[in-house]
Amino acid sequence: MDKIVLGRTGLEVSRVGFGCIPIMRLEKKEAVALLHYAYEHGVTLFDTANAYADSEEKVGEAFHGMRDKVVIATKTAKRDGAGAMEHLELSLRKLRTDYIDVYQLHQVSKESEWEEITGPNGAMEAILKARDEGKVRHIGFTSHNLNVAIKIAKTGQFATVQFPFNFIESDPEKELFPLAREIGMGILAMKPFGGGALDDGKLALKFILQSKGVVPLPGFDATWQVDQAISTLQENPGEITGEELAAMERYREELGKEFCRRCEYCQPCPQGVEITSAMQYELVSRKMPLETLLSFSGPAMETVQNCIECGTCVERCPYSLSIPQVIKRNYDLYKRHLEEAKRK
Ligand code: SF4
Ligand code: SF4
Repeated sequence: MDKIVLGRTGLEVSRVGFGCIPIMRLEKKEAVALLHYAYEHGVTLFDTANAYADSEEKVGEAFHGMRDKVVIATKTAKRDGAGAMEHLELSLRKLRTDYIDVYQLHQVSKESEWEEITGPNGAMEAILKARDEGKVRHIGFTSHNLNVAIKIAKTGQFATVQFPFNFIESDPEKELFPLAREIGMGILAMKPFGGGALDDGKLALKFILQSKGVVPLPGFDATWQVDQAISTLQENPGEITGEELAAMERYREELGKEFCRRCEYCQPCPQGVEITSAMQYELVSRKMPLETLLSFSGPAMETVQNCIECGTCVERCPYSLSIPQVIKRNYDLYKRHLEEAKRK
C-alpha cells in the first residue's frame, strides 16, 4: 500500500489507516486476525481510544513484539491532568507498549472543554510532560466542531487533527484542512463512510483521496472491507467523474440534514431508548422489505415510547440533532408500517 508522511510528525503511515471502533464487536481472536490481515496487506496506522471498550487491548495483543512496525494513535477524553495521565498509563498497559505515537485529546468540541484542558492542572500540561518523558511521541486532537477545531489548530500546539470528513461532510476542506496543511499538521479523516451511511465504500474513499495529505480512518470489521480499501488505492482512482458527483448528490438528498452518523455519543439513554437504531429507522425502511424491517427494527422502535424528551441525548450529540423529534417521527412511521403489515 502507498505510504504518506503524517504532517510534521514525520511518521510514515499507510495511505489508509484502520479505525479501531468496529473491532469492539469482534471476539478477541477474530479482531487480532483482522488487525494482522490489514497489516499484512500494508496498513500500518491504527487509531483507537480509551473510550473504545476493549479495542486497545486487541490492538496490543495484535502488535506487541512488532511495535516498531506500526503507528498507534489513541485518545483520552479526560480534560484534567490527573485523569489524562491515568488514561495514558492504562492505554500503555493495554496496548502493551511504552510509548504512544500519537496521543489525542478526544472529541474536544466545546470552548469550555478547551479551557479546562489548557487551564491549571489541565490535560495539556500533563500530556506535554508525558511527551518530554517519551511516553507520547506526538500530540493531536479530535473534534466534531469546526470553529473549536480551527481555534485549537491555530494554537500550533498539535501535530495532528482528526475530524469527520466524507463527501456529505466536506466543510473541513474549506478552512480547517487548509490551515492544518499550512502549519504542517497531519490530517486524519474520521467517519470516511459517514458512520456507515455511505455504503459505496469505493466512492467514499475516492472522494477523500482527492484531498491532499488527508488520511482516512475507515473502521473495519471484515477482511473484504480491507480488500476494498486496498483495491480502491490500487486502481489509482483519479478524479471524480460527473457520474460520481451525481451519485454523491443522491446520497446528500437521501440522507438530508438530520443525518445520524451512528457515533453513539448520545447513548445510553436513561429511559432505555435505543437511540441510534431509532434514528436510522426511516433510512433503513427504504432499503428493506416490510416484514424484514419490522422484525429487524421493531424491538428498538418499541423503546421510543419510553422517551420523555429529557434532552440528555441532544446535549451529548456532537451534531446537535433533534433526536426526540426525529425518533418520534420515525416511531409514527413505524406504527404506519405495522398497520400496513396487518392489512397484508
Ligand atoms: S430525550 Fe428521549 S431519547 Fe433522548 S435521552 Fe431523553 S429520554 Fe432518551
Ligand atoms: S444521534 Fe447524534 S450522537 Fe447519536 S449516534 Fe446519531 S450522530 Fe451520534
